[in-house]
Amino acid sequence: NSHLNPKYTFDSFITGSGNQMAHAAALAVAEEPGVIYNPLFIYGGVGLGKTHLMQAIGHQMIKIEPGAKVKYVTSETFANDFINSIQTRTQDDFRQEYRNVDLLLIDDIQFFAEKEGTQEEFFHTFNELHDNGKQIVMTSDRLPNEIPKLQERLVSRFKWGLSVDITAPDLETRIAILRNKAEAEHLEIPNDTLSYIAEQVDTNVRELEGALIRVQAYSTLKNADITKSIAADALKLFKLSKEKKGLSIAKIQNKVAKYYHVSINDLKGKKRVKTIVVPRQIAMYLSRELTDRSLPQIGMEFGGKDHTTVMHSCDKIAELVVSDNDIKMAINELKDELRN
Ligand code: ADP
Ligand code: MG
Repeated sequence: NSHLNPKYTFDSFITGSGNQMAHAAALAVAEEPGVIYNPLFIYGGVGLGKTHLMQAIGHQMIKIEPGAKVKYVTSETFANDFINSIQTRTQDDFRQEYRNVDLLLIDDIQFFAEKEGTQEEFFHTFNELHDNGKQIVMTSDRLPNEIPKLQERLVSRFKWGLSVDITAPDLETRIAILRNKAEAEHLEIPNDTLSYIAEQVDTNVRELEGALIRVQAYSTLKNADITKSIAADALKLFKLSKEKKGLSIAKIQNKVAKYYHVSINDLKGKKRVKTIVVPRQIAMYLSRELTDRSLPQIGMEFGGKDHTTVMHSCDKIAELVVSDNDIKMAINELKDELRN
């Protein structure tokens, strides 16, 4: 009862340039838990295999040592369990549950941001496990020091072990992932078609898998074999191919500038007045949400700003979307216009 997805094993994980380091570190940790890299911190964008790799460590450890106690949770589950334990006065059970394991896997730790009490509790969980030589593995969409309002003592502990990133797979790796997936699903797909899909869908592995499912569904619907032209039609229909995605940062800047009656130069510039700062942050936020460009790439298109500036802007707007109705409406309107 470790809550592991049976599919997320090392066997089904394809390695390539973007994940080689993370894969090697994960394997090493599975073989010698609590010894080499403790904690192991895996970070990177969505759909790149962080959860898969983290759970693979769990599977492998149980395979080597069947009695091993492995616990996998998302950081939200940890936070909820903790809050419930306070409400129901079962904090001892909570501690027993989390501190009495050989391997603790905490997924998407960025959601600890700003949760003071949970961070406090996790600090003690972490210390207890670490002191006893138990392995801790965490994932996040960013580095520990980039998580807003994460206590300094946690940031420093997260750096005790090893931090490795996962980046988007290159074309060869994407083809290999598709081929593996097609074989697992017993799908007959010609090589040129696999290459075509891999070329068109270059964002992340989750989208790649989604593309394959849609191509398959479309071919069934059309009662046709999966060929390159069927794949092309399917990807266009689902707006997955590059040709149809086509939303550029320039286009987003254009729309936002018009909406707020400011100039593109102001969006790219350094002026600190509120009437310009907010539209600038919104344009960065939308670039992050609606394109697959990285933080540094977005920074470049906004007059060569640092990726931390972009990140701060995105966080700021994400906050305002919740707390400020005007911003929320503006974002929704802009998104609608940009998508059509
Ligand atoms: P993340 O946690 O980084 O958002 P996931 O681990 O959920 O990403 O991966 C998304 C999907 O892509 C999962 O179905 C996973 O099995 C698959 N996947 C990701 N990376 C690989 C890989 N290198 N080889 C095979 N499948 C992968
Ligand atoms: Mg994940």
